[in-house]
Amino acid sequence: MVSITLFGASGRMGRAIGEVAAQRDDVSIVTDGGDVFVDFSVPSALEAHLDAAVSAGKPILIGTTGLAPAQQAAVDAAAERIAVIQAANTSLGVNLLSHLVREAATRLGAEWDIEIVEMHHRMKVDAPSGTALLLGRAAAEGRGVDLDAVSDRGRDGITGARTAGHIGFAALRGGSVAGDHQVIFAADGERIELGHRAESRIVFARGAIAAAAWLAGKPAGRYTMADVLGL
Ligand code: NAD
Repeated sequence: MVSITLFGASGRMGRAIGEVAAQRDDVSIVTDGGDVFVDFSVPSALEAHLDAAVSAGKPILIGTTGLAPAQQAAVDAAAERIAVIQAANTSLGVNLLSHLVREAATRLGAEWDIEIVEMHHRMKVDAPSGTALLLGRAAAEGRGVDLDAVSDRGRDGITGARTAGHIGFAALRGGSVAGDHQVIFAADGERIELGHRAESRIVFARGAIAAAAWLAGKPAGRYTMADVLGL
C-alpha cells in the first residue's frame, strides 16, 4: 500500500486523482505523512510543497504547469535531495506521442515546419500548455536544436511570415475540453499530423497514480514519465 499526500486535492485534477485512488486497493490519499507527495495546485504554492517533501525526505510528483524560472529552479534544487518527477502531462498516450514526435523530427529534414496546436477548457491559465511545450521540446531534441532559439510561443495569432523549419505554437481555449494536442509537420506539398485527445482528466489521474506508486522509495534524482511507463 502506497500512501499519497495530495496538494490541490479539491481542484479538478485533485478530484480526479481521488476518484482513481478510491478504485484501487494499493494506494490511499492521506492528509499528512504520505510515502509520496503529489502536487496539482498552482505555481505560487509549489515552493512550500517542495519544502514539505524535502523536509519529510519523500519523493514528489509535480503535475502543476506554468512555472516561473525561480519556481523551476526550486524544483531543480529539490531534485538534488529527493526523487522528483515533473510531468506536464501524466497520460500514457501523450508520453507515447512525445516519443513519436521526437522520432519524426529526427527523421524529417529541417525544411519541415512544426506547428503545435492545443485546445483546453476556458479556465486553463497558462498558454501554450505545458504539454504543448513538452511536445515542442521533444521535436527540438529530435531535430538537435534549442527550442527557445526556433520557437514562436505566441497565442494571439501570427503577425508576420515565419522562418522555415520553425517550431510554432497556437493555443485555443473554450468549453470543457480536457486537453487536445496536435503536432503538424508541414513541408512544401505535404503534411504529417500526429495528435492526442484526452476525453477526461481520468487519463492524467491514472498516470499520476502510477507515477506516484513507482516513485515511492526511489533515491534522490530526476525521473520521467517515460521511466514510469517503460517507454
Ligand atoms: P484547479 O484550479 O481546478 O485546482 C487547483 C488546486 O490548487 C485547488 O485545489 C486549489 O485549492 C489549490 N490551490 C490554489 N491556490 C493554492 C495555494 N496557494 N496553496 C495550496 N493550494 C492551492 O486546477 P487543475 O485543473 O486541477 O490544474 C492544476 C494544475 O495541474 C495546473 O497547473 C494544470 O495546468 C496542471 N495539470 C497538469 C496535468 C498533468 O497531466 N500534469 C493535467 C491537468 C492539469
